[in-house]
Amino acid sequence: TCTTETLVAAVRGLAGVVAEHRTELIDLDRAIGDADHGENLNRGFTAVLSALDSSTPDSPSAMLKLVATTLISKVGGASGPLLGTAFLRAATATAGQSELDGAAVAAALKAALDGVVARGKAEVGDKTMVDALAPAVQAATEAAGESVADVLAAAASAAEQGAESTIPLVARKGRASYLGERSAGHLDPGARSTALLLRSLANSAG
Ligand code: ADP
Ligand code: MG
Ligand code: MG
Repeated sequence: TCTTETLVAAVRGLAGVVAEHRTELIDLDRAIGDADHGENLNRGFTAVLSALDSSTPDSPSAMLKLVATTLISKVGGASGPLLGTAFLRAATATAGQSELDGAAVAAALKAALDGVVARGKAEVGDKTMVDALAPAVQAATEAAGESVADVLAAAASAAEQGAESTIPLVARKGRASYLGERSAGHLDPGARSTALLLRSLANSAG
C-alpha cells in the first residue's frame, strides 16, 4: 500500500525526474509549441519541494492536494491548470484514506483523467497528455486488484505507449494545434511528461 510517507517520497521523486528531463521537455515543446513545458513543470515541482520544507502532509490526499495547489499557482500555460486539476481530483478521490491500495490508486488516476478531460475537453487522438493518461487509466483499472506497484507499472507502460502514439498525430488542442498538419511527426510534450511522471511513481512504488 501507499502511505503518506511513501507518497511524499514519491512526490520528491517526481521533482527529481522533472528536473532531469527539463531540457528534453523544452526541446519537445520547441518543436510544436513555445519551448516552455520543461521549465513550467520544473518551476512547479521545485515549488512543491519548497512547500514540503515548510509543511508535512498528514495523509496521501493532503500530499496530492499540496501538489495540486502548488502547480495551479506556479505553473502557467495549459499544463499547470490541467495537471493541477488532475492532482486535485486525485486528492478528492482519496480523501479520508490513510493508506492507498491498488484499487484506490486506480480510482485516483481515473479521477485525475476525468478532471483533465472536464477542464481541457481533449479526446484521445487530439495529441495531448490525454493520449498518455487515458490508456494509463484503462491499464490501471484492469490491474486494480493488484498491488500499488503493479497498478502503477501497468499505468506507466500504457502511458509510454500512449505518448509514443502521439508522434504521427495532428494536434487538435493547445498551442500545437496552431501548426495544423505541421504538428505531425513530433512527440507531444505533455504526453511525454505524463508518461515520465507515471514511470517515476511506478519506480517509487516498487
Ligand atoms: P503551453 O502550451 O501553454 O505553453 P505547456 O507547454 O506547459 O503549456 O504544456 C503543453 C502541453 O499541454 C501539451 O503538450 C499538451 O499535452 C497539453 N495540453 C494543451 N492543451 C490541452 C488540453 N486542452 N487538454 C489536455 N492537454 C492539453
Ligand atoms: Mg509550452
Ligand atoms: Mg507557454
